[in-house]
Amino acid sequence: MDFAFDNSFHDSMEGFYAPAEATLPSSPELLIFNHALGKRLGIDIGSCSDQELARIFSGKETPVGANPLALAYAGHQFGHFSPQLGDGRALLLGEIIAPDGARFDVQLKGSGPTAFSRSGDGKAAIGPVLREFLVSEAMAAMGVPTTRALAAVATGDRVQRERAHPGAVLTRIASSHIRVGTFQFFAAHFGADYVVQLADYSIRRHFPELVEAANPSLAMLDRVIGLQCDLIAHWLGVGFIHGVMNTDNVAISGETIDYGPCAFMDRFSVNTVFSSIDANGRYAYGRQPQILHWNMARFAEALLPAIHRVSPTDVDAAKALVDAIPGRFRTLWHTRVREKLGLSGEDVDDGELIDTLFDELEEHDVDFTSFFRALAMLLRGDGALFESLLPTPDAMAPWIADWWERIAREPTGPLEHAAAMDAVNPLYIPRNHLVEAALAAAEAGDLAPWLELLEVVRHPYAVRPGFERFAEPAASDAGPYQTFC
Ligand code: AMP
Ligand code: MG
Ligand code: MG
Repeated sequence: MDFAFDNSFHDSMEGFYAPAEATLPSSPELLIFNHALGKRLGIDIGSCSDQELARIFSGKETPVGANPLALAYAGHQFGHFSPQLGDGRALLLGEIIAPDGARFDVQLKGSGPTAFSRSGDGKAAIGPVLREFLVSEAMAAMGVPTTRALAAVATGDRVQRERAHPGAVLTRIASSHIRVGTFQFFAAHFGADYVVQLADYSIRRHFPELVEAANPSLAMLDRVIGLQCDLIAHWLGVGFIHGVMNTDNVAISGETIDYGPCAFMDRFSVNTVFSSIDANGRYAYGRQPQILHWNMARFAEALLPAIHRVSPTDVDAAKALVDAIPGRFRTLWHTRVREKLGLSGEDVDDGELIDTLFDELEEHDVDFTSFFRALAMLLRGDGALFESLLPTPDAMAPWIADWWERIAREPTGPLEHAAAMDAVNPLYIPRNHLVEAALAAAEAGDLAPWLELLEVVRHPYAVRPGFERFAEPAASDAGPYQTFC
């Protein structure tokens, strides 16, 4: 199997990582290989057997041209600075260049301890590995920027958590693993020269068009802020709660990274938190835009030495970029909500329509995902789904009247709006109760329910007869849902 590695980080960024070696798994077995993604990346698995794939994507066999390494980074975790984190359970095999010229990292996650493991075992259990695979595929299918999963392999070894679980390794594909925390690490420990070197590398890799900008690092700050605003608007639009928006989990590429305790909201509430470790709700659904702002302020701080070196007065420009984030986010978010509501143009009253909508959804505990599909059904003259979501049929009557009137002012007809809405509002998401059931079966040795759910969430929009149960909210007596890192 030929990866044609081209390891720019290894070759040009010595001092920014530590060499690493995978712990050899005792009996690796392929759980899944993502053929569609392999094809998009130009990875030719040729006549590779499942056993060979299992060896390569568990770290048992190091492919030709790989330079396995663990990346150094720091990060603010729940608001507190941790000066040294780094890849404690991940190992970058190398970089590949896809047929369209895009560069990607190929990383093993759960392949054993590295120089950055601290007290951790460097391993991953099968549940979190399959969860990341499933949720990142769902996100990709919904058009949300994300790292991807290329393979999952069971190691044959046990991983001790609150109890022993089967171990597994995930192969993660990212356009890079450079995080806000990567800049923070070098700003905190090594000073300006290192920050400048990392900024130069990042700009050449992610934003080559900015190399010629008057102040490339300032231009990169602007671009990363834009990407993060767009990303969080995407998250809110599909009811996604990341759960651990620490600065080490913020990729400068703007991809969703680190699917630890993430989950999708069922009934709408801005305060929704699923993560067992987020006791104060720092990363609750509705706080994600504020945290984005806070995280970008940390990014700006870490980048300052590089910005200042080109022009000391640009420090004020960096501050202005950070200050402008709430307005910039709101614009992107409102564009997204308008799209979800079937509104193509922009109206002065849209802000109020949107704000009122979320108050109503909160008040009536409406299932967030179903709601937007139900609106499209209303446009088709079918109110059954809509009524099933509300405590009383006319609970949202005034808001619906306003929205209806707003739609009527659009140039296109209701059926066209309904079709446009169904193309952006997912019907099938990884609902918590479905994910849990699929993971429990997989852990017990039956992968079939997980494979079926994966197939469902890879096609989020079009109605599939016989798949009704995948679109239904959890039973109302399901109880609170909790996730773990
Ligand atoms: P996370 O909460 O997943 O973003 O991880 C935060 C930090 O803890 C990162 O530096 C990880 O590499 C490290 N880490 C998480 N789990 C483990 C583990 N099982 N063994 C070693 N390091 C870990
Ligand atoms: Mg992380
Ligand atoms: Mg994690």
